[in-house]
Amino acid sequence: MQFHTQKNAPAQKKDFNTAASVMDNSSQRESLQRRADLANGTAQQVVQRELNSNQDVENEDRTQYEIERDKFKLKDQDGRNQRTIQYSDGTTRNVVLYFGNDICAADESACLSMFEHWLTQLVKMSIVIPNDLEIYVSNNFTNQCSYNFDSGKICLKPSSINSLFDSGKRSTIPNIADSVPYAYSGDDKTKFGSAVIMHELGHVLHEKSSVNFFKQKQTPLIDGHTDRINSAKKVSLYVCKGEQSEAEFVAEVFTGLSNGLCFDEDVVSLYWQFNGPRCGELIERENHKYGFRNSKEMEIPD
Ligand SMILES: [Zn+2]
Repeated sequence: MQFHTQKNAPAQKKDFNTAASVMDNSSQRESLQRRADLANGTAQQVVQRELNSNQDVENEDRTQYEIERDKFKLKDQDGRNQRTIQYSDGTTRNVVLYFGNDICAADESACLSMFEHWLTQLVKMSIVIPNDLEIYVSNNFTNQCSYNFDSGKICLKPSSINSLFDSGKRSTIPNIADSVPYAYSGDDKTKFGSAVIMHELGHVLHEKSSVNFFKQKQTPLIDGHTDRINSAKKVSLYVCKGEQSEAEFVAEVFTGLSNGLCFDEDVVSLYWQFNGPRCGELIERENHKYGFRNSKEMEIPD
């Protein structure tokens, strides 16, 4: 099967706004992504408004973010960590990590390690992020969440990451921790946290790569599509859960691909169908498994 190569260039975005979007009024009226996101199990805000465009998503996210932002108090001058990463083609991106004043030294140290691992992975796999992407860390947030406006915002809760990681280790029954981040990291909490950040980045990039993101975050993956169950099972039990959206499937597959995991053709076909983020190139590896080509492989001339 043919896969197209397409960089996540920020300039793509203006093109998406001109593409015709078919309205689908049968889609569910709730924001399934936020409700079913890699959250901490607490009561979550359910958005009742229908999203009819990606601009609607951005407007809603801006409103939601303002509410969450009020809960965030910057730790001090040391709470702001800016990094500039450089990709193999010379492209550079700034990303800023902010720590809230509620974050203890141990969690700050652990999150910094996750952050650094994530940055390394971005460069290794040539995953170009929006410039000046902001990441906020606080246990005061309602959810672990990503916001799709401007350069994108990601909110992380160390308490949520800790509990997800611990429940995944203990659990013998399917639960929310049976996700790609857990499959990728095993017992390594730094890798787990890095993959959680990658999952949220997946949502940010998906909104930029798909004109139908607004529909995909409102449309359940499995409901009415029983043929997708087998594909979903190959990704994680997390995406098999009843109300998980097509956008959650994309974020989970993206998390795997961007961490060097490979998936079967039916999985990447679905990812392609949903216009999942295309970072570099998706290539066939051994045994009909598909994965992102990493930057080292890109340097090899044809
Ligand atoms: Zn998600």
